[in-house]
Amino acid sequence: MPYTESSDMSKIIQTFALLFAVAVVGATMVNAQHPRVKAEAERITGDKFSVAVRTPKGANVYAVRQPSRQMLAAIDKGLTELFAVARKNRYTRRLNYSEYSIYIANADRTKDSSGNYSPDFAVPADQYAGTDFDQGGFIYAAGMVLAYNPMAFIIAEHTRDLGRMSNVVRYEGEHLVLYHNDRRRYEATKDHSQSGAHPILN
Ligand SMILES: [Zn+2]
Repeated sequence: MPYTESSDMSKIIQTFALLFAVAVVGATMVNAQHPRVKAEAERITGDKFSVAVRTPKGANVYAVRQPSRQMLAAIDKGLTELFAVARKNRYTRRLNYSEYSIYIANADRTKDSSGNYSPDFAVPADQYAGTDFDQGGFIYAAGMVLAYNPMAFIIAEHTRDLGRMSNVVRYEGEHLVLYHNDRRRYEATKDHSQSGAHPILN
């Protein structure tokens, strides 16, 4: 029966078309879900985050170029360590990989003042103006929280010493976990020109 066959075929095509549409909408949502956060990341870093990918464990990554597999694994490792130490402190909220968005910016320097490998990006000095961190209107940052809802932060691209990159992920994540689980401790530790450094959680 040619009619049935063609009907089946058109059903199959329709199904494919629908699946394709769902996939495209899904991909678009991943890319465009936080235009405000993305605009802020681009304003702060001067970079364009044209690549959107996920880590193997499901964290959202926005980058200036395709991140290496090792970089994505380093991000997952940092988040895994963050979630473990958060649970140790009896924090339970926002401990899912998919709730985190990480922007990987171009490194504006790759060595610190002592000559050690230290990929950092430059940001406007703001509350650090006049402090030891101030480089003349900007500071070099290893990481920086961008937004709390949704949760997002910026790190610099690393081509080696990925252990440092994992640490930066864990450290920026500490501010986000504290914000959502222990607001008083968050307030006491959020500003490093006033208070200590990382790790905050042990
Ligand atoms: Zn910090």
